[in-house]
Amino acid sequence: MNFKLRFYLASLFTLFLSCATSQQSAVNTPSMVGKPPRLIIGITVDQMRYDYLQRYWDDFTAVGFKRLVGEGFVCHNLHYNYMPTYTGPGHASIFTGTTPAYHGIIQNDWYDRSSNSMIYCSSDTTVKGVGTPSKAGQMSPHYLTASTLGDMIGHHTNRKGKVFGIAMKDRGAILPAGRTANGAYWFVGGEEGKWASSTWYMEALPEWVNAFNAQKKADEYLSKPWSLLGDESTYNESAADNNAHEAPFKGTTKPTFPYDLPALRAANGNYELLKATPFGNSLTLDFAQALIENEQLGKDNDVDMLCMSFSSTDYIGHQFGIHARETQDCYLRLDQELAVFLLYLDQTIGKDQYLVFLSADHGGAPTPSYTAKQKAIGGYWKSDRLELMLEDTLAKKYGQGDWIVNESNQNIFLNRALIQSKKLSLKEIQYEVAALALDFPEVHQAFTSSDLNQFRGGDLIKSMVQNGFDSSRSGDVVYILKPGYIEYGMTGTTHGSPYTYDTHVPAIFFGAGVRKGETFERFTIADIAPTVSMLAGFALPDACTGTPIVESIAPRR
Ligand SMILES: [Zn+2]
Repeated sequence: MNFKLRFYLASLFTLFLSCATSQQSAVNTPSMVGKPPRLIIGITVDQMRYDYLQRYWDDFTAVGFKRLVGEGFVCHNLHYNYMPTYTGPGHASIFTGTTPAYHGIIQNDWYDRSSNSMIYCSSDTTVKGVGTPSKAGQMSPHYLTASTLGDMIGHHTNRKGKVFGIAMKDRGAILPAGRTANGAYWFVGGEEGKWASSTWYMEALPEWVNAFNAQKKADEYLSKPWSLLGDESTYNESAADNNAHEAPFKGTTKPTFPYDLPALRAANGNYELLKATPFGNSLTLDFAQALIENEQLGKDNDVDMLCMSFSSTDYIGHQFGIHARETQDCYLRLDQELAVFLLYLDQTIGKDQYLVFLSADHGGAPTPSYTAKQKAIGGYWKSDRLELMLEDTLAKKYGQGDWIVNESNQNIFLNRALIQSKKLSLKEIQYEVAALALDFPEVHQAFTSSDLNQFRGGDLIKSMVQNGFDSSRSGDVVYILKPGYIEYGMTGTTHGSPYTYDTHVPAIFFGAGVRKGETFERFTIADIAPTVSMLAGFALPDACTGTPIVESIAPRR
């Protein structure tokens, strides 16, 4: 270093020292990391539409959803920013802060070209079930291609912070927790009725899980009828109890209260029945408390995280629809149970020592058979009609052959080997198929993978298709239906579309570091994870594409 430069640096350092000394009293030491919460609870309510908060508001207690909203920060206008709005992708997106294009969970089940078979988003044949001998235990997050909030906690705390995921559904437990989690537990129904895990996480269940299973709480919940929680007049936001748009349980003819659960068990898959009652959520909360106690979550200064998903809301929504008393009853019960859980967290972790965020993995469509009576838009779609038409048209033009190898979740997979052997252009056939799909009045738009691979942008719906598209996992053509159309049976409902009934979900932040308030600005599901990272003071998940919801973060100094 030459003399002049050395002199210059020395002068700068002297100047810095004098500034720092003179201003010390005026400026506080900046806090890079605010006081972190001891425990983060990330709640996903499976299939919770935002409007359930509005529709059922008057019937909620003051201390459940109303407490979260009243004392926390609420986003009134937060949406999924991709299609398809399904459970696996939804859970992955909330906790990775990105979309299927980056986290790889493009569907619940998708067609795999290399094995010519369907893949389930959390299945893993290389692992074994722990606590269950059945295939229901062969699950892991190995298809997840992005890190989660939980992975970042492990990184931030040098692996001292503990991270767990729990849900009745395996994918609701596994995908939020992420690849490096300490554990994930899900409920194995059928004849087992137990919480289980896999060798991805552990070799044997901890003693406390065995003890919890031995309590047979699932049997307790199935030993009583499911009756309406409140007076019948409470349910004036829902349709009449007995209607043709809801599916009765097997072994009964009417979808009406009260449900005799002990009598229904045998015909409805024994412990599977629990999932489609509000008591699946109750058991999840029981298990959450047992986990917090036994794993000592929130007991030290290293931030821990519990990702919990309430699956029963989804099973009930599918069976009965968004207009059903059964659905409303499930939310009224969840409200009361959340109230008890918050009180439990106040007492065991301490008020303002924990951070809760709550959202949903997707919404749900109005049941078309029900809304048709009111002359509303929508109807039912049968994709096999499209597949048959495409096979027929391509065979007539290019010769016999199995031109469509798979059609699932509005993705069309072409027989690329056949196209290549006939020396045809894949790109041209894709365009041809996309154009043919538009012949059906139910189909709104169709996109080719060649186009989806090459550009970004376009209108909101087009960008949502791209955000849900993974070139190595998605189809050659992706199409979307017109608003209100679903591919489903005539009772109950489903989800998956890019329309608001499926995309608009609640997002509430509550507790440590949260500024009380609300926003009506439009945010996306990818904005939840970076908000939590900023609230708790740790790194953003690697592929995060969202932006923190700044107004929800209280000043640290
Ligand atoms: Zn779901």
